[in-house]
Amino acid sequence: MSVAATSPAVGSFCLPRFPRHTPRFRMAVRSSAISVGPLLTKLKHDCATPLPVLRHVADAMAADMRSGLEIDGGSDLKMILSYIDSLPTGNEKGLFYALDLGGTNFRVLRVHLGGKEDGVIATEFEQVSIPQDLMFGTSEELFDFIASGLGKFAEREGGKFSMQSGRKREIGFTFSFPVRQTSIASGILIKWTKGFAVSGTAGRDVVACLNEAMERQGLEMQVSALVNDAVGTLAGARYWDDDVMVAVILGTGTNACYIERMDAIPKLQSHVSSSGRTIINTEWGAFSKGLPLTVFDRDMDAATINPGEQIFEKTISGMYLGEIVRRVLLKMAEEGALFGDSSPEKLSTPFLLRTPDVCAMQQDDSDDLKVVGSILHDSASVESNVSARKIVVEVCDTIVKRGGRLAGAGIVGILQKMEEDSKGLVFGKRTVVAMDGGLYEHYPQYRRYLQDAVTELLGSELSKNVVIEHSKDGSGIGAALLAAANSMYGHDL
Ligand code: ADP
Ligand code: MG
Repeated sequence: MSVAATSPAVGSFCLPRFPRHTPRFRMAVRSSAISVGPLLTKLKHDCATPLPVLRHVADAMAADMRSGLEIDGGSDLKMILSYIDSLPTGNEKGLFYALDLGGTNFRVLRVHLGGKEDGVIATEFEQVSIPQDLMFGTSEELFDFIASGLGKFAEREGGKFSMQSGRKREIGFTFSFPVRQTSIASGILIKWTKGFAVSGTAGRDVVACLNEAMERQGLEMQVSALVNDAVGTLAGARYWDDDVMVAVILGTGTNACYIERMDAIPKLQSHVSSSGRTIINTEWGAFSKGLPLTVFDRDMDAATINPGEQIFEKTISGMYLGEIVRRVLLKMAEEGALFGDSSPEKLSTPFLLRTPDVCAMQQDDSDDLKVVGSILHDSASVESNVSARKIVVEVCDTIVKRGGRLAGAGIVGILQKMEEDSKGLVFGKRTVVAMDGGLYEHYPQYRRYLQDAVTELLGSELSKNVVIEHSKDGSGIGAALLAAANSMYGHDL
């Protein structure tokens, strides 16, 4: 470990003071070993996202979208067809379920749809966190756990709704991992992301996996629509607002989808849509061009279970922001004695610092940054003085600012691509981007940085037409609406 300080500081901050524990003989080396100033300056420099960087990212995103639409495998972006060509109309009626497997939680939702007259009559929902061991277990174990949670929730429906005899309850299944959709109600898992390493699912139809688990549990339910979370958010948000054209998820991971014209999809061969439009799931988490990355990002990536993949996701999404901050703080503690004598040993634990911790530290407006101090103490067992806490907040802000601004540039890239193909139809009128996910919902600074980048890139005039709006739990209702729209019993409920 590095040397602790007994006197104020070199560089841009005051050092932690722990005189009682500081052996005198160390004092000679402290001034060269204890400055974190240069480390912070370099971090800010490496993470900077000035306008030209944002513009480059937006342009590269638009170009990658085009290449991905040309041919399968044509770019980092898979540009997956959703098989959804008619969005909910508002006529949907009946009782539907939605099941959402995200990354941190799975949610079950029951929606009673009343058609044009009555809209959404009632919703009930429940959330269960996914036990860590299931993320590394077998496919059967994971899907049995989900089916059993769904079964318990369905039992609580009581006698409120009677289904015609012989009919099964229908589910919209939101599955937020990359899937090659093969029909509206089937899709092959391409790969797990967000830290999942479940054996036996990749290459299989995830709807079949769930249906089999439901059968094992004796559940009279069936999946009528397999929906990506971004796609579900778009469908749900558009139910209320016709101007929604794009949906973005910023939660554990990240993804985006948008409404595309069929004639702008060269790789499309047989699938025809009555409306001439469809939803494209970009899987933008795999984007990688022109991102300002640091040694901390590279080291983190190398230690993940999917090195070299999902680079955009690893730079902007909730699963990783806390981990990047942890890596920076560890280096500052080891090489710059950020926490003085306090041993940073625990700080070496991967994923010790979570994004909600980073967020809570940034909300601390007390003079002595009490919350920052206690989070550092409780999570990493380090003692800190006010100067060190200020540095910690600056590190959090640097990583979160980069994430939010790059997410904003990605959104502009999508809008840019849509505008190029349909002059005036995107920027010339009100266009809504529906946002969902825990990171976007709970992190005010992240939201502000994202919006700032969009405004900077579009300019104040154009950005007036682009409305970036939180659509809370839109994806659950969206999935239920899509199950209704694709009901195997038609619309005669
Ligand atoms: P999922 O992505 O698993 O479907 P959510 O959309 O609810 O689930 O997102 C959960 C993620 O959101 C968490 O993993 C975390 O990264 C982030 N998050 C949750 N709460 C907060 C918070 N208070 N501040 C910042 N990020 C948060
Ligand atoms: Mg989710």
